[in-house]
Amino acid sequence: MRPQPNSLYARDVEYVLHPNTNARRHEEIGPIVIDRGEGIYVYDDQGNRYIEGLGGLWSVAVGFGEKRLVEAASRQMAKLPYYHTFSHKTNEPSVELAERLVKMTPERLRRVFFTNSGSEANDTVIKMVWYYNNAIGRPEKKKFISRLNAYHGITIASGSLTGLPANQRDFDLPFLPVKHVTCPHYYRNALPGEGEEAFADRLAAELEATILEEGPETVAAFIGEPLMGAGGVMPPPATYWEKVQAVCRRHDVLIVADEVINGFGRLGTMFACEYYGIDPDIMVLSKQITSSYLPLAAVLISQEIYDGIADNSGRIGTFGHGFTASGHPVPAAVALENLDIIEEKGLVANAARVGEVMQSELRTLSDHPLVGEVRGVGLIAGVELVADKATKAKFDPVGRIGAQVFAKAHEHGLIIRAIGDVIAFCPPLIITEDQVRDMVARFTRTLDDVAESIGK
Ligand code: PMP
Repeated sequence: MRPQPNSLYARDVEYVLHPNTNARRHEEIGPIVIDRGEGIYVYDDQGNRYIEGLGGLWSVAVGFGEKRLVEAASRQMAKLPYYHTFSHKTNEPSVELAERLVKMTPERLRRVFFTNSGSEANDTVIKMVWYYNNAIGRPEKKKFISRLNAYHGITIASGSLTGLPANQRDFDLPFLPVKHVTCPHYYRNALPGEGEEAFADRLAAELEATILEEGPETVAAFIGEPLMGAGGVMPPPATYWEKVQAVCRRHDVLIVADEVINGFGRLGTMFACEYYGIDPDIMVLSKQITSSYLPLAAVLISQEIYDGIADNSGRIGTFGHGFTASGHPVPAAVALENLDIIEEKGLVANAARVGEVMQSELRTLSDHPLVGEVRGVGLIAGVELVADKATKAKFDPVGRIGAQVFAKAHEHGLIIRAIGDVIAFCPPLIITEDQVRDMVARFTRTLDDVAESIGK
């Protein structure tokens, strides 16, 4: 049905270019207007209620409509609505937040740099590492190693770390000297008969061979999400990080943990670095830091990196990097309140407990004719749909069945994410056991409907 002229739908199609959207398809089907939210639910402008199975974009930890965050923002807006942190200025919320982040993250991380978004944070990581290596007299040590299927953002630099064709094709990316190694997804990337441990060994060896081939004196850092999210929710084998870490240390390659999705409880531990035993030199945080009520990201760095940067900026006059909103007091105040809520409500423990229920409920779908693999940890999961369970053959073209499931789920009052044919779940951390069961029941009905429609 064509939208009424001048309706919000028609004006959206007329004026907006949507991110990560097929623009011509959007002109045909128009938008869904999300109007309000409460708890794990959002409502469209027709009054339909949906379980937000992806917490917005992997990010709304405390749920929608949390008044404490609104009040924290409002109090800060009234007192000091904006100020910058350039040239020795500071403000209370950003200092408090920096201190809190340093105290709650792994010991090695000692200083915080704030940005607006995860992409800017990863751009900042690249620039800091370059600046640091210039400062300590090894200007040739500049290359980054990332993984295929990684998602680290979409700016020119962070989009180069990303390893996904959809974010790179026709954007002339990667633009920077980034090498991409195999991603630790056992189901897709293990050799026939290869055990998980042997798979992890092989990937660590591949990383080491890549460093040696490039020349360790030219390789600055390895970046990875502890558990890969937007690339298709891929938990690594248990010993993968331990092995990768040993390789990086051997060649003096910095370890960057991108916890933009994983951070603040998603896996049932405050940070995924705890879960996998990672001791990073740099950590990147965003999304759940404010439950995405306001944009904010943080780059945490070790004392060594800080000292290199500080010595150099002292010599040349300034550290010439920063955003208008770096250390903005309003998102910082919201982050502090959000972290209070996460702690007071025990949401990390909830993610562990309810996450187990979500994982086991979703695994009951392993026998479903469309399902190849169910995977995940805590409150993040992926369900990979395949054309043939025995051979793991993908549907042709990839993405069509995912799009069908995505659309059908809406009819069942469920919003999920389709990454190609992997269906992702990442609900708010406040979700209860009953709500998880309801979510999985809606998803099961969705899959049954789609299976029936294609004669499976
Ligand atoms: N890193 C990871 C792991 C992410 O998932 C994302 C966003 N999905 C980003 C970086 C980029 O964050 P932003 O969209 O805020 O730029």
